[in-house]
Amino acid sequence: MLELLFLLLPVAMAYGWFMGRNSVKQNNHTAKQDLSIKYSTGLNYLLSNQQDKAIEFLLETLKVEDDTVEAHFAMANLFRRRGELDRALKVHEYLVRQKHLPTQAKQQAAFELGKDFLSAGLYDRAEEMFHKLLKSKDYQVKCLVYLIKIYQSTKDWQHGIALKKAIIKTKDKALLHTLANFYCELATIALEKDQFIEVIELLENALKYDPNSCRANWLMAEIYENHQQYNEACQCYKDIYSQDEDFFPDVIDKMEYCYQQLDAQDEFYQFIKKVYDETAGTSALIKYLSAVEKKHSLVKAQDFMLNALKRRPTIRGFNHFIKMQMLDSTNGSNNENLEMIKKLISAYLNVKHRYNCRTCGFNSSTHYWSCPSCHDWEQLKPVRGLEGE
Ligand SMILES: [Zn+2]
Repeated sequence: MLELLFLLLPVAMAYGWFMGRNSVKQNNHTAKQDLSIKYSTGLNYLLSNQQDKAIEFLLETLKVEDDTVEAHFAMANLFRRRGELDRALKVHEYLVRQKHLPTQAKQQAAFELGKDFLSAGLYDRAEEMFHKLLKSKDYQVKCLVYLIKIYQSTKDWQHGIALKKAIIKTKDKALLHTLANFYCELATIALEKDQFIEVIELLENALKYDPNSCRANWLMAEIYENHQQYNEACQCYKDIYSQDEDFFPDVIDKMEYCYQQLDAQDEFYQFIKKVYDETAGTSALIKYLSAVEKKHSLVKAQDFMLNALKRRPTIRGFNHFIKMQMLDSTNGSNNENLEMIKKLISAYLNVKHRYNCRTCGFNSSTHYWSCPSCHDWEQLKPVRGLEGE
């Protein structure tokens, strides 16, 4: 009820103004009486708890002028925050109908109305309102953000891509990143049908609009690998490391497979050594140890691991160290104890989440390209620290 006082204040002011004027000009008497009746009627509706009738009545009574328009917006926003969308809609629709309002206020009303439709799940009508404002300097980026949200939630990637001209013009990095992911979504569909040329074209577009899209290189590596183009696939994996090292642990095995197909394991281990030196990541360390063991011995690999763990301890690293100890035949009867420790650590790691959203902190054991919680793209990455990489 409080928010209705926003409407009543200007009415009361107008009423006072009419009263003052009445003492000077007799011909305003009728207007004053008319407003007075409407004001009392609106108040009666409000007091008898008939809020909808009160809003209608007061909107009719209260002429929107430059100095009262903000009060209308404030009241409608209050309704929306309280979840009373039908009331917010009523006020914003009323404002949109006011032809005499300045352009800025008209655009604000249309934008707020679009948001009301979106909150009410009326996507078609929200889309229409936001499209109308795409040429407005003040609302272009905001409307694009909402339109992209609509297309993302309806998985309408084509309509999202149709906005690319407007998105490119804004140079907004977040929008370009989302546009690249829309291309990746279409590429994923084409990849399932093994449409090689389509996949490459779509992913080249994704990288054009967001050169840092790890996902584009990830998918590109997959289609190259499916077509036995292992050199190209390896280059994509290297690019992923340059783009975002946090994603790299998840492609190490795939990369190793491609280098094996090329019979170039040494080259792979050289690259992994570089990754380990630069990041001290556990996955790179574990992978590199097999090269040390092959080239030198298990003992040398164990020493390397022990020193690495001393410098940067991780539970996954420790688990691997126990595994290496069990392979050592000189341990003899100790193996039973080591087996038990390894099982305990594995059980602990299994209940831990592998991925964490860098935007909202959402944790997950499964990888998603769009975070199920905040819907940001490419933000779920392998967990770092003691329990992760
Ligand atoms: Zn998130």
